[in-house]
Amino acid sequence: MSLTQRILIAMGLGIGLGAILQWLALPQDHIVMSGLLNGVIDGGGKIFVSLLKMLVVPLVFVSLVCGAASLGDSGAVGRLGGKTIGLYLLTTGLAVSLAMLIALTTDPGLSSADLKEEGVTESFQPKQAPSVKDTLLNIVPSNPIAAMADGQMLQVILFALLLGLALSKAGDSGTRLRSIFADLNEVMMRLITMIIALTPVGVFCLMTQLGATLGLAEIAKVGMYFVTLVFALLIHGTVVYPTLLKSFAGLSPRVFLAKMREPLLVAFSTSSSGATLPVTLRTVEYKLGVSNNVASFAVPLGATINMDGTAIMQGVATVFIAQFYGIDLTVSALLTVVLTATLASIGTAAVPGVGLITLTLVLDQVGLPVEGIALIIGVDRLLDMLRTAVNVTGDAAVATIVASSEGQLDRDVFVSEQSPSQQPA
Ligand code: ASP
Repeated sequence: MSLTQRILIAMGLGIGLGAILQWLALPQDHIVMSGLLNGVIDGGGKIFVSLLKMLVVPLVFVSLVCGAASLGDSGAVGRLGGKTIGLYLLTTGLAVSLAMLIALTTDPGLSSADLKEEGVTESFQPKQAPSVKDTLLNIVPSNPIAAMADGQMLQVILFALLLGLALSKAGDSGTRLRSIFADLNEVMMRLITMIIALTPVGVFCLMTQLGATLGLAEIAKVGMYFVTLVFALLIHGTVVYPTLLKSFAGLSPRVFLAKMREPLLVAFSTSSSGATLPVTLRTVEYKLGVSNNVASFAVPLGATINMDGTAIMQGVATVFIAQFYGIDLTVSALLTVVLTATLASIGTAAVPGVGLITLTLVLDQVGLPVEGIALIIGVDRLLDMLRTAVNVTGDAAVATIVASSEGQLDRDVFVSEQSPSQQPA
């Protein structure tokens, strides 16, 4: 049985078990709840996510040093950086525009009569969202070790990039160190393969908890918002990326999406594009055929700054909240949303639920009540899973397009049926 099949079965079993537990409605102090659901299963899910996160900093660092060292001359780095960042911004801008267009057609905020009668039941305490300026200024680390310890990805990326460039210019010392980094990279990839083998167990634990706590009644209350958002995410994932892949790189979207199954399932289960990064990076390199030079730069950068799914949620949520409160969005307000949601997605950390926090930036910018977020908090868990899957797809799609344009895509690997476990790790 393939890994994907095992993950899917684990997913189904987990949701099924969770749903049974929800239906049984046992008291929290019952042994099944305290020992199994909140004990072993909760612990199992947390361990799995921690194992993935454990890989992120060393993997990004080692892989990007190798990538930057072989890119060598800074012209190539500049061009690669420009193309990658440009495409990330473009896809996010497209994502939020598409989301608002769809939301303005389905009018999710006008069809929530029940919710209006009932009033806002949840409360939302706006947290301070990081400002875009701070996010950008924060890219330069004053202490790279502290940056690694704190998991400051943009800082780690910058340091690794500079170190890699220095290696390529450091003569014999550089060559010796490069081969050590290349060996370390191989070892890291092997470690990812070992941890990915545990995915079915991790996914089972995470999905059981989802099944046990997911409230369908919550979803029904904001049904149109939910449906609109899911539809916009689907269109972006299955129409926008495929069109870009086909037109910019002449690649088969079907092959691309089929090969993205593992990162998609992990992103869906963990709701964190950061935790999914090791799986995405491995897929992009070994299954899609993107060279290490491009993948090691584009994928971690994408996981940190490119959040198309999050921008889509913010576009739909803004229209929903405006309509709910009966506030008209002018054309200039709509354009402001496109711009701020694109920037807010850069500032959104790649962990669960942060998209809702940075939504405050967007709402503030167009003068909408931030408390409106309370309306959608209840359904955000499932939507976070879906938008994270879109975020991760966007990172891989852009990395593949950039690699193709740079002649850094191995098209034989892209079309090959071979599974990555059969390929050198
Ligand atoms: N969970 C998302 C991610 O990690 C971020 C968000 O939208 O909350 O990609």
